[in-house]
Amino acid sequence: MPNRSVGAPSSETMELLEAAENAVLFTAVRPAVIMEKGEGMYLWDTEGRSYLDFIGGWAVNALGHSPHVIQVALAAQSAQLVNASPGFYNKPMAQFAKQLTELTVFDRVFFGSSGAEANESAIKLARKYGAVHRGGAYEIITTLGGFHGRTLAMMSATGKPYWEPLFAPKVPGFRHVPFNDLDAMREAVSEQTCAIMIEPVQGEGGVHLADPAYVTGLRELCDEHGILLIFDEIQTGLGRTGKLFAYEHYGVEPDIMTLGKGIGGGFPLSAMLTKERYNLFEPGEQGGTYTGQPLAMAVGQAVVRAIVEQQLSENAKELGEYLQAGLKSIAKRYQLANIRGLGLLIAFDLSQPAAPRLAAAAMENGLIINASSASVIRLIPPLIVSHADVDEMLKRLCLTLDAVQHV
Ligand SMILES: *Cc1c(COP(=O)(O)O)cnc(C)c1O
Repeated sequence: MPNRSVGAPSSETMELLEAAENAVLFTAVRPAVIMEKGEGMYLWDTEGRSYLDFIGGWAVNALGHSPHVIQVALAAQSAQLVNASPGFYNKPMAQFAKQLTELTVFDRVFFGSSGAEANESAIKLARKYGAVHRGGAYEIITTLGGFHGRTLAMMSATGKPYWEPLFAPKVPGFRHVPFNDLDAMREAVSEQTCAIMIEPVQGEGGVHLADPAYVTGLRELCDEHGILLIFDEIQTGLGRTGKLFAYEHYGVEPDIMTLGKGIGGGFPLSAMLTKERYNLFEPGEQGGTYTGQPLAMAVGQAVVRAIVEQQLSENAKELGEYLQAGLKSIAKRYQLANIRGLGLLIAFDLSQPAAPRLAAAAMENGLIINASSASVIRLIPPLIVSHADVDEMLKRLCLTLDAVQHV
């Protein structure tokens, strides 16, 4: 087991905690630890305690913590060119765009820094398409339980009932329908519709997979009406689901795909990809200070190359199955239900609304897991996770479940 330290935290830790708690704007309840170092599957806090990380920066650290390829890419690129200007092409930008078009069914890439920014870009492109080709249609239909980010427009796009009353007035032009309900989607499409946007697997919503017939049906519906199909693959992309992109599971090509999280392996980076026929923006309509930022481009290129060369989507498939099997073997003992997922995007239900308490207790046992809602635990480890890591994770999880069940 990890070396849980006993006694009072060091004065350095106390000072840092005080600074964090007093100076960082409150937006989330965070445990009273300060993370200092990461390597592979582990994080260390300033007290020297280690944590086996099954969240991986929220499905971000595809190659684990502080991977060598990112260190090398950053060192080399920062010595060469940190920033030119979004007004110029730069070398890693050209190379990375080409690499992504070769790995996907898309022809064009716009780069951003966050997932929400990539999604904003997708929405703007869909509205531009509506303006040019659909008589000014602007509405985008999304699904309940989905998640598309935290900018004002993406909070409007996200079908999360809890967000509904927040930050009014919302950005208009979004409709939400139940997920996996093709009839509801068909009914929602109107003259005003320019696009449908879904996550192939709803991640933040608790890991819900789109049915194959639903996805095929959406593609047909979009073709029938001449509207765009947008896949938000910010969580599912780059190997997470056992294929490089989740659309490959469905044999369906979206018109626009957004990527984030794993694409930078921890560096802020996102992308919106589309086909040549939707290469529609005029100068000034879309951009950003950090679009195609050289450091981000160099890191992204190195991360994507590593994911492909090390066949991490294969590892995600194999280890995802191994992890699900492990969870199933303890399911009865701990009343875990609905063990589900695709690749290394996995969740299960607890019999009680104890997920936040369980996640907090897991930290005490040196394990990081995500309470994605009151009774759902989600596991989204780095794609480099090994069988031994999964065994160790299950050991720590059982220890935690034993403790939580007895309070
Ligand atoms: C995380 C996430 C986003 C938002 O990405 P940010 O980088 O936090 O803006 C959007 N869509 C999906 C599916 C996500 O998982």
